[in-house]
Amino acid sequence: MVVTFALMRDWAKKAILDSGALRLAAGLRDPSAAILMYHSVLPDPSLQVDLLGGIAHSEPVFRKQMDLLARNFHPVSLDQVAKYLFGGADLPKRSVIVTFDDGYADNHEVAMPVLDQVGVPATFYVTVDCVENRRLPWPSRLRFAFRNTKLSMWVDPLAKTWTLKHPAEREEALLASCDICCQLSGTSQEAFVSRVEQDLEASVPNRSGSFMMSYDQLRTLSQHGHTVGSHTLTHPNMAYLKEGEARQELTQSKQLLELHLGGPIKHFSYPCPALSPHWNAQTIELSCAAGYESGVTTSSGLTRRGDNPFCLRRIRPTKTVEGLRWNLESAFAGRAV
Ligand SMILES: [Zn+2]
Repeated sequence: MVVTFALMRDWAKKAILDSGALRLAAGLRDPSAAILMYHSVLPDPSLQVDLLGGIAHSEPVFRKQMDLLARNFHPVSLDQVAKYLFGGADLPKRSVIVTFDDGYADNHEVAMPVLDQVGVPATFYVTVDCVENRRLPWPSRLRFAFRNTKLSMWVDPLAKTWTLKHPAEREEALLASCDICCQLSGTSQEAFVSRVEQDLEASVPNRSGSFMMSYDQLRTLSQHGHTVGSHTLTHPNMAYLKEGEARQELTQSKQLLELHLGGPIKHFSYPCPALSPHWNAQTIELSCAAGYESGVTTSSGLTRRGDNPFCLRRIRPTKTVEGLRWNLESAFAGRAV
């Protein structure tokens, strides 16, 4: 066997984990919670790379990761975290919260049965326009168009020409289109995406609407004790919207979910489709005014008492079980993740 640097690093991490030193260090620190951010769980994520990019976890790895959480940590609900942040009871040490962004149908079809089997509650943040219209979020539609077009160039709205001969050029043009689209919402966003699809003569297959959850599936998640939250109406970067547009994304998504699910929608997740930052002081103020109790970001880190409930950090789960174990144990021990 060839001993590589990566292999030696993995051995060193395992030795540290097995020694219990990280757990000892974590025991000395104030209570904290790790909010994990998932998107999609598929039997074989490699089949959907053109639509979803690299955001999907494989079902066997996800199952093992949930086993790990149930056995070695304390899975809690987002409601428990919100209560804790507003001055309620302490959370158990090593609390973990599972969240999903976007609202893919596999959340209901693949992830929920696993979560229910191991008794892990989860929060599902849904892009409401994708539920209403059964269509993929715009980043997936643009990705598909740029990767599958037969054309060799694209002219953007500022009249800049992008060549599309090589995969790297297509990726560059895709990112440029995302930088424009993330600043749009509602009908202007839909007009931009449709225009790009027409320009490139490529659009996602009609059946791709079934990739998103229906209201029936959302109701089933609630009935199984999971939480449904809002991830906006149309998945813009909230920090780049005008105040009225941002308010509409927050309030209308909440109202529609409450209408169809018959209960309060208390939690929000700020999309991070392109550009930085993806939330700001206005977003926090509007989220609070819209009646939400918490807002999660894609900034990395743990949640502690005293944190602002409207800018909660999350941890991106790696695509391996050992990677997730290392990230959680070292984060609880005080290492930046
Ligand atoms: Zn998202």
